[in-house]
Amino acid sequence: MSYSHILQEIFGYDRFRGPQQDIIEHVGGGGDALVLMPTGGGKSLCYQIPAIARQRAGHGVTIVISPLIALMHDQVGALHEAGVSAAFLNSTLSGEEAYQVEQRLLRGDITLLYAAPERITTPRFLAQLDALFERGQLSLFAIDEAHCVSQWGHDFRPEYRALTVLHERFAGVPRMALTATADDLTRADILERLQLQEARAFVSSFDRPNIRYTIVEKREATAQLLRFIEREHPDDAGIVYCQSRKKVEDIAQTLCEAGIDALPYHAGLDSKLRQSHQDRFLREDGVVMVATIAFGMGIDKPDVRFVAHLDMPKNIEGYYQETGRAGRDGLSADAWMCYGLNDVVNQRRMIDEGPAEEEFKQAMRGKLEALLGLAEAIDCRRTRLLAYFGEASQPCGNCDNCLHPPAVWDGTQAAQMLLSTIYRIHKLSGISFGAGQLMDIVRGKKTEKVAQHGHERLSTFGVGAHLSELQLRGVLRQLLAMGAVMVDVQAFNTLVLTEQSRAILKGELQVRLRESVSLPKAPKLSKGKALRAGSSVKPPIELDGVALQRYAELKAWRAEVAREHNLPAYVIFHDATLAAIAQRAPQSLDDLQGISGMGVKKLEAYAHEVLRVVALSA
Ligand code: ADP
Ligand code: ZN
Repeated sequence: MSYSHILQEIFGYDRFRGPQQDIIEHVGGGGDALVLMPTGGGKSLCYQIPAIARQRAGHGVTIVISPLIALMHDQVGALHEAGVSAAFLNSTLSGEEAYQVEQRLLRGDITLLYAAPERITTPRFLAQLDALFERGQLSLFAIDEAHCVSQWGHDFRPEYRALTVLHERFAGVPRMALTATADDLTRADILERLQLQEARAFVSSFDRPNIRYTIVEKREATAQLLRFIEREHPDDAGIVYCQSRKKVEDIAQTLCEAGIDALPYHAGLDSKLRQSHQDRFLREDGVVMVATIAFGMGIDKPDVRFVAHLDMPKNIEGYYQETGRAGRDGLSADAWMCYGLNDVVNQRRMIDEGPAEEEFKQAMRGKLEALLGLAEAIDCRRTRLLAYFGEASQPCGNCDNCLHPPAVWDGTQAAQMLLSTIYRIHKLSGISFGAGQLMDIVRGKKTEKVAQHGHERLSTFGVGAHLSELQLRGVLRQLLAMGAVMVDVQAFNTLVLTEQSRAILKGELQVRLRESVSLPKAPKLSKGKALRAGSSVKPPIELDGVALQRYAELKAWRAEVAREHNLPAYVIFHDATLAAIAQRAPQSLDDLQGISGMGVKKLEAYAHEVLRVVALSA
């Protein structure tokens, strides 16, 4: 049976995405591979389809190594729903349960076995693999989240280092490493550490065209976030990232008060509670998770409709990975970030005050500047993001700057005022000051602190009286992004000149800025559910009244099935599949054939009920 047949029969999809087919053919034929694909690109099928094909051809079991214990249950559940024999071995199983899985494994009853890396390298498990190997029943090793092997990656797992045993002990068994982390250093490390130098590398485009990037200037962050959710995503599932635990708690509460179904998640919560919040997010519709970056790795909920950053991430890699959790189902999704001058100062301080070596800190500062450059950009965000990952592209038409090109003003003169003020203050007082004092001087404000230091005597006092504080803040952020001022954290976050400052002072470099637009008034925060009364379940495609009703009933039915099976709703059917059913209003089994996401097993298991729900809601 061909690979595309398996794609249709088991998974119910018509065609492969991007490089999936090449990868599957290569690995299915016994080749080693390194697969670099962005989050949501469709990595799982790249090992699941070869696993199924090779099992059917008599090669035995595929072992999937994954660090994400909490998610194995759902991954295996999804395979069961599709009619594939799968199991997992990890510390959540009792001794008896683990024994049962081992027996099935040795009997050859399992097509895909998920296991944690620390499990793989135990003598007991290795002995079982030996037995399978001797019988030619070890088909493939798929090493997921392979960047965990590298300390350059962001989730280093020492246990991954021991996986070289696979190569040494089970020579000839094909191996594939999969990851969404792109940078060259990590990639080289994966190949070396896992001894995959001979493997064929498949590098996909990192573009996620269905994600719309928007970066806004921080004013009243919470109100801005509320407005964004209420206008664009009422009732949608989403993730809101905040920097601190306290802020996570505060924002979750504020969202709840505004009638949004929000939950907090951070490392300070009791682990049971954390797990239950994660389960609710995965299993229920329309939950908003407010979280620190402790949340998210391996979250493969496909219908996350937005990822919002209320604080600036550390770097573009982090930003891209976090925003990549939106829209894995390929339907449109938003990546929304709100950032301000203080974010930059804070991030800078965290780097400078951290325990790392100077060389490392220098690299981190460079990465922060690149992110700031993205935030301050006046051209296509996607082009910038992809360029950061080494990919050239044209303006995308699906980011804030493409959709609403920002008005731009020449801030060179304002920048010169600020820079020369820094220079003059230092000359006069022998010390540096922070952003507030600088702006007061330039705008000619006679504050107590200005008087106290005699700063009204400076020749730049009041030269920028016509500029607003908002404008000057924008100029300062831009200067930070350009590396033309630096935050001195040793001296109370004061601003100091750099090498780059000179070029601007001499007029050799221009400073172009986005115009700060005044925002519409914040909506009133109505209490409780009132806000949501008018909104309804938003389908991924345009549906008319009757179809919309059908969609809502299909969703309700799906929720019931998911609860019975103790699985997330999307494992039963994706929203897109339900919407297609609602639109087609099938009357018979034939009408159901060919709907994307409707594999043979699901048709068998659910067609009857789906047709019943459709008939009743007609
Ligand atoms: P990744 O692991 O790369 O982040 P997944 O394997 O979780 O991505 O796939 C993301 C989503 O895309 C899943 O919901 C999956 O069912 C869907 N998907 C993958 N390949 C295809 C395809 N060829 N056609 C339709 N949907 C697909
Ligand atoms: Zn764009």
